[in-house]
Amino acid sequence: MPNPITKKILQELQAVVGLPYVLTGDVDLSVYECDAETLDVARPDCVVLPANTEQVAKIVKIANKYQIPFSPRGAGTGLSGGATTIMGGISLVLTRLNKILKIDENQKIAVVQVGVTNVSVSEAAHPFELYFAPDPSSQLASTIGGNIAENAGGPHCLKYGMTTNHVLGMTVVLPDGAIVYLGGRTRPNQGLDLLGAFIGSEGTLGIVTEATLNLVPRPQAVETMVSYFSSVEDAGQCVADIIAHGVVPAAMELIDGPTLNAVEDAFAMGLLRSARALLIVELDGPRTGITVHKEIVEACSHKNKVMELHWAEDLVTRAKIWKARKSAFAAYGRIAPHAYVLDGVIPRSKLAEMLRRIGSIAEKYQLTIANVCHAGDGNMHPCILFHRDNADELRRVMLAGREILNACVEFGGTLSGEHGIGIEKVSEMPELFSDSDLKAMASFREAFNPDGICNPGKVLPAVKNCGESGMRALLRYSIVDSSASLIAKGAF
Ligand SMILES: Cc1cc2nc3c(=O)[nH]c(=O)nc-3n(C[C@H](O)[C@H](O)[C@H](O)COP(=O)(O)OP(=O)(O)OC[C@H]3O[C@@H](n4cnc5c(N)ncnc54)[C@H](O)[C@@H]3O)c2cc1C
Repeated sequence: MPNPITKKILQELQAVVGLPYVLTGDVDLSVYECDAETLDVARPDCVVLPANTEQVAKIVKIANKYQIPFSPRGAGTGLSGGATTIMGGISLVLTRLNKILKIDENQKIAVVQVGVTNVSVSEAAHPFELYFAPDPSSQLASTIGGNIAENAGGPHCLKYGMTTNHVLGMTVVLPDGAIVYLGGRTRPNQGLDLLGAFIGSEGTLGIVTEATLNLVPRPQAVETMVSYFSSVEDAGQCVADIIAHGVVPAAMELIDGPTLNAVEDAFAMGLLRSARALLIVELDGPRTGITVHKEIVEACSHKNKVMELHWAEDLVTRAKIWKARKSAFAAYGRIAPHAYVLDGVIPRSKLAEMLRRIGSIAEKYQLTIANVCHAGDGNMHPCILFHRDNADELRRVMLAGREILNACVEFGGTLSGEHGIGIEKVSEMPELFSDSDLKAMASFREAFNPDGICNPGKVLPAVKNCGESGMRALLRYSIVDSSASLIAKGAF
């Protein structure tokens, strides 16, 4: 069991960051009890908000001295429960590390503290015609630290790559409090590639405090198309055909009929309600190349019986097209108060088949499931819409979610494209990885996090020394347990 946080420990933490930055009140703690994955709720014992790397290192040393678990946290927009303090302890919030330290126009890099939001890096680089390419839909709120920990993606990562492709180096506080620099650009880039191992490790190997980021020049031209199809099969085939013709668009996003109608209900944007799929294709690069690619995209659309297609003629229309995609999650709020957003990946060619499977899972469990997909790379976000107070519905949500993830693995895909494993998908990991695979990952984690106090219980199923025994009672497990008995009785 994790040790309790005594008055003496609180005083030591306050001495590091100052009295206002150690929170222990009930209302304060409730703000940090989960991230945007609201099925797993566990309150921290205290919240600590450091202002710089040295303070982070001192807090981690105190946590080590008293063997208190701690979980790094950015903006808390994560969708897999990664920042949730499932064993209590300290929620270590990095949002006060909010300075852009340098934009170097010549080297095309930004050096930032990790509590800055994703979008603020691109805003700071804008005067130099540069930007930070990874663009999660949460970019107005999510932090660079959270993006690094989750290896976040976004619509434009199809062409430009994920966060890992744009981080050159970073300062990290290891789980024992040591401060190290990983990667290159401001230091020699030799030795073991620990930078790669840390990006996407979901806060289980240490706390990133500063990062050197790659900036990309703004493209000469951008063309954005919205098109409508009478079936997701046709839209899915259009996506496959475009790629097969050697065109890699900057982004290729698909939303299904229920999502399209939810967005139209909420924002009245003039979308074609009778369509069963809406596809956005964005091309960017040198003007001459784009003209050729536009013709290919149009030809593929017509071959797949497109109902209507429009190219944005100005910035306002382009912004409106993207609003249809980026406001989808907000629009779901009109259908149900809670959404369980899944993040499976499947081979692009199986998109339509997988959407059909999701439809039959929705029918089986009598649930509403709407879909948004980064169609270009097969990353799907089925959103199960529900009411958390309805216990029976909640059980069905959990079962349907599990069945969708298993189907992704069955289709030759994987459990997560960009939202991470966190606590949400930890029990599915053995579906994808062998015992030896999991053991190798656990040994690596143990080398950096031997006491298991740095973000415990995340990513990997329980292994020795992981300290799992102190896990708080999570709704997820009570639901899964009672569901198992329902399945045994043949309820589904
Ligand atoms: C509406 C909405 C849309 C979204 N769209 C996308 C999308 O398009 N693409 C995408 O990839 N994700 C998306 N997400 C998920 C989420 O925004 C990302 O995972 C994001 O990277 C999380 O950043 P955060 O600052 O909120 O991190 P948090 O949620 O606070 O933390 C996420 C994880 O990172 C760890 N962590 C945080 N900071 C640090 C640090 N400094 N050092 C080490 N570990 C740290 C935490 O322990 C946790 O495991 C979306 C979420 C929402 C709510």
